[in-house]
Amino acid sequence: MLELESFKKLLSSPKKIVITTHHKPDADALGSSLGMANYLKKKNHEVTVITPSDYPSFLYWMKGNDEVLNFEEKGHAKEINDKMTAAEMVICLDFSCLSRINELGEMVKQSTAVKVNIDHHLDPEDFADFRYWSTEAAATCELVFDLIVKLGDKDLIDADIADCLYSGIMTDTGGFRHPNTTKHVHMVTAELIGLGADNAKISRLIYDTNSVNRLKFIGFALSRRLIIHNDLRTAYFWISKRDLKKYDSRTGDTEGLVNYALSLDGIKIAALFTERKDGVKISFRSVEDIAVNKFAAKYFNGGGHKNAAGGKSDLPLKETIEKFEKLIKENQERLLNQLELVNEKH
Ligand code: 5GP
Ligand code: MN
Repeated sequence: MLELESFKKLLSSPKKIVITTHHKPDADALGSSLGMANYLKKKNHEVTVITPSDYPSFLYWMKGNDEVLNFEEKGHAKEINDKMTAAEMVICLDFSCLSRINELGEMVKQSTAVKVNIDHHLDPEDFADFRYWSTEAAATCELVFDLIVKLGDKDLIDADIADCLYSGIMTDTGGFRHPNTTKHVHMVTAELIGLGADNAKISRLIYDTNSVNRLKFIGFALSRRLIIHNDLRTAYFWISKRDLKKYDSRTGDTEGLVNYALSLDGIKIAALFTERKDGVKISFRSVEDIAVNKFAAKYFNGGGHKNAAGGKSDLPLKETIEKFEKLIKENQERLLNQLELVNEKH
């Protein structure tokens, strides 16, 4: 394992660097990747950002977006392969489990480059030579800021980099509302605004740039796809492939939907089941001490944070929901007593 000083030394001469992040990058994943990329470019490194999939168009404004290579997009395979082969350093941001990026993860594993992992998720896989990791951090963007400062390069953070980093902090704290919004988060945020981050512009670009289809889709989901079990303190949405098609759904259109379920008075657990090409994607949210990440890891091949986690299911949508309902019923007592939401019998 490298120490900070050795990492700093590595960065003192130009390197070929690949940055990657998790599947379906959100603002923290893309913001930390492009924030880091723009910073490293200023230090004369040759940097390529490779994402395992596409991401929402409300993130396209970030500096460097036009040069991002999407692994799933046809025609990039050779370039990605060349970049990975030539890379002297691979930086993995906002995830700690190479299996989360599928085939690209295999390429990272095989690579002989120095591997760096910067992340705030709970269950790190031990694959990196240099790890900057803290579950206390609200966002990977917060860690990237702290790391740049530790490297003595705060003066290299310009307005574009500050915009990228601000985005991830804003979204991973739910707009500075979640319990992870610490004093340190506010200090970093204040610094970023001081360095030129345009907070009003960013919240408009990320939160207030809806298509008519998306608003209609949210209306449809709220009126037709929301199931509420008050007795179980649970509410969830289910969205079928047909629903997504009907509303011409784009990547990012279901983002935030699960929060409507959690916003119901008395509800402590919320979920969103989305039927996709490759199975059912599940988002879990909870309040207080209900650890949905453990629940997701145990029953739905997933993980995440205590109050915000995700997972997947290879069962059909209907059976996935039945499985969820059964588990919630079985765990009802634990749920109401705010114990970990994992029944040890299983
Ligand atoms: P979301 O519901 O927004 O997709 O994800 C919420 C949180 O759970 C994120 O922090 C994300 O990293 C994590 N997460 C989502 N899906 C998965 C998954 O399949 N596996 C793991 N380990 N974490 C996930
Ligand atoms: Mn994050």
